[in-house]
Amino acid sequence: EQSASAEDMPTYIVGTEAQFPPFEIVDSGGNVIGFDIDLLNAIAEDQGFKVEYLDQDFAGLIPALQTGNIDIIASGMTITEEREEQVDFSEPYITAGLALAVTVDNDEIQSVDDLQGKTVAVQTGSTGYLKAEELKDAGAIAEIKDFPHVNEAIEELKIGGADAMINDLPVTEAFIAVQPGVIKIVGEPLNSESYGFAVRSGNTELLEMINAGLENVTASGKYDELLADLPNY
Ligand code: GLN
Repeated sequence: EQSASAEDMPTYIVGTEAQFPPFEIVDSGGNVIGFDIDLLNAIAEDQGFKVEYLDQDFAGLIPALQTGNIDIIASGMTITEEREEQVDFSEPYITAGLALAVTVDNDEIQSVDDLQGKTVAVQTGSTGYLKAEELKDAGAIAEIKDFPHVNEAIEELKIGGADAMINDLPVTEAFIAVQPGVIKIVGEPLNSESYGFAVRSGNTELLEMINAGLENVTASGKYDELLADLPNY
């Protein structure tokens, strides 16, 4: 049996918001790297397809998938019921959750219970935004400020434009690792969330390949190898 040559392989366009380490980040050479990228590359190799990454704002990913500009979302995207009405998710590939962060010198805010009257920075279109909305509706925070990228939310904290930030825990940890002594995580994680790769609703062929690849990559031990590499991004 002849193995398929690279030219015969289908290429899928993958949308990602590549300012979300350790899951996706642009390296000094302009390449998109990170855990999601490594994992999807391994899946693509296993299943015999090629991928090309397109860096864009998080809030535009689902619309881009729906219009056909991209075929797959690999962007630390949490599987939620609301999104499941718009896209089809793969099996979950990692568990994360939201955490609260403040500047290192802030001793006043130690958990979500200390946010009354406070302004919270979040990423536009993220589950952190949804959590902030929930808190605002309950009167537990005063204001939400949202930004396309997490680093901009962190910047807002630094300049005092926001009192706290809600964002995915591993990502906030990655930013702290790169730039220690600026912000800190406070309190317990606010929830637990699972990330999935997303495809257009009804694109079962591609979804089945992603799920089969994920299963193979997990069974082969490759997944654990990539997971061990997570703190390096
Ligand atoms: N996991 C969060 C969400 O799905 C944030 C993802 C991201 O900003 N890349 O909303």
